[in-house]
Amino acid sequence: MKVPNKRGYFGQFGGKFIPETLTCCLQELEDTYKKVKNDKKFNEEVAYYLKEYAGRPTSLYFADNLSKLLGMKVYLKREDLLHTGAHKINNAIGQILLAKFMGKKRIIAETGAGQHGVAVATVASLFGYPCEVYMGEEDIRRQRMNVFRMKILGARVIPVKSGSRTLKDACSQAIRDWVTNVGDTYYLIGSTVGPYPYPLIVRDFQAVIGQESRRQILKKEGRLPDYLVACVGGGSNSLGLFYPFFNDKGVKFIGVEAGGFGLSGFNAASLIKGRVGVLHGAKSYVLQDKFGQIKNAHSIAAGLDYPAVGPEHAFYKSMNRARYTAVTDKCAIKGFNLLSQVEGIIPALESSHAVYYLKKLAKKAAGKIVLVCLSGRGDKDLEIVQEYINKRAKGQGARGKGNREKKGERR
Ligand SMILES: *Cc1c(COP(=O)(O)O)cnc(C)c1O
Repeated sequence: MKVPNKRGYFGQFGGKFIPETLTCCLQELEDTYKKVKNDKKFNEEVAYYLKEYAGRPTSLYFADNLSKLLGMKVYLKREDLLHTGAHKINNAIGQILLAKFMGKKRIIAETGAGQHGVAVATVASLFGYPCEVYMGEEDIRRQRMNVFRMKILGARVIPVKSGSRTLKDACSQAIRDWVTNVGDTYYLIGSTVGPYPYPLIVRDFQAVIGQESRRQILKKEGRLPDYLVACVGGGSNSLGLFYPFFNDKGVKFIGVEAGGFGLSGFNAASLIKGRVGVLHGAKSYVLQDKFGQIKNAHSIAAGLDYPAVGPEHAFYKSMNRARYTAVTDKCAIKGFNLLSQVEGIIPALESSHAVYYLKKLAKKAAGKIVLVCLSGRGDKDLEIVQEYINKRAKGQGARGKGNREKKGERR
C-alpha cells in the first residue's frame, strides 16, 4: 500500500477537506513538491541552510547519568541545540525554500503560542520575505515575549478577534487570507497537520531528525535502538524521528501526548481521548464533545496544546505501529526538573513529557537502548514553570487558575 495514497490518505486518515477555492493552491503545492523532492539542487540548498544556519547535524548525546539512574541506555537527540531552540526551524527552512522555488512573494502563517511564528519570522527575515503571522488575541496576551520576538524579526503579527481567539481561529483566518491572495502568497504550516500535502511535506522536512539518529546510533551502538520516544502535539518532531525507522520492525515507537490536568479533565491527548473527525482540512483524531464540537485542549506545554493530531499518527495507531501514552502537566514538570538536575540540560516543557515517560518505561525496559527526541530547549518555559511552582507553594495548585482560564475561553 502506498502511503499517503494519491488522494492524500494515510489509511483512512488525512485527505483534503477544504473549500473549493483552495483546490488549485493545494494542487500547485503538491505538483511543485513532487518536482523538488528529488531535485538535487533543491535538496542541496535545504541541506546547506540546515547545516550552516540552523546547526545540523545535532548531536545524539548518550545521557550517562540518566541512564545509570534509570537502568537503561538513554540517548538524547539534541534538537534543542538548533538555532531558535527547537526542531521547528527544520520545517521552516524547507518550506521557505519551497516558497522561493514556487516564486511566491509573501509568507503567511498561523501560530498558537508563537513558537512556529518565531521560526517562520526567522526564515522570512533570512530570505527577505514580508511575513504576516495570524495569532489569536488571547494568545497574544499570554505570549507577549514571542509576539515581541516576531516583531523584532520584522514580521507583522495580526491579532485574530473571532471565536475563542486562539490557535484554531488563527488557522481559519490564515486560510481565508490564503484563499484571497493565493497567487503570490505561501502558507507555511508548522506541523504535520492540515490538508494534504502538508502532513507529508512537514514530515519529510523533519525526517532529517530520524535519518541522522539512525546513522548516529548505528555508529555508537552498532545496532538500532529498542525504543524511540517523542512528544506528540501536531506530530512533527515525533514523525520526523519515527518515519526513517518505519520498516525496522524491531524498533518500537512511543508517542507521548499531553495529559494536561489528567485524562478525565482538560488535556491535549487527541489520539487517546479523541474521536475520528475533521479539523483544519484533515481527518484524524480530534478532541470533541458529544455533538462533535471541537473541545478546547489544554497543556502546560504551549506546543502540545492542540485539539487534534497529524493523520499519519492516526494511521500508525490504527495499525499498531506506534503506541501512544500521556503524561500530565504535573509529571512534565518532574521530567523538566529531572533532566535539568541530572544532565544539566533544561528541556522544553513539550520535550519534558517524553523525558518523564522514561521513568515509566524503565520499569519494563531494563538494559534496553532508548532514543528520545529532545525537541527543544526550556529557556522559553522558565516563567511558566516558576509560576507553576509558586502556585503550588501557595497551596492553591496550578490547576485552579488554569481551569478557570480554560473555562473562560469556552464562553
Ligand atoms: C511545537 C513544539 C512541539 C510540538 O509539535 P510537534 O509538531 O508535535 O513536534 C514539541 N516540542 C517543541 C519544543 C515545540 O516547539
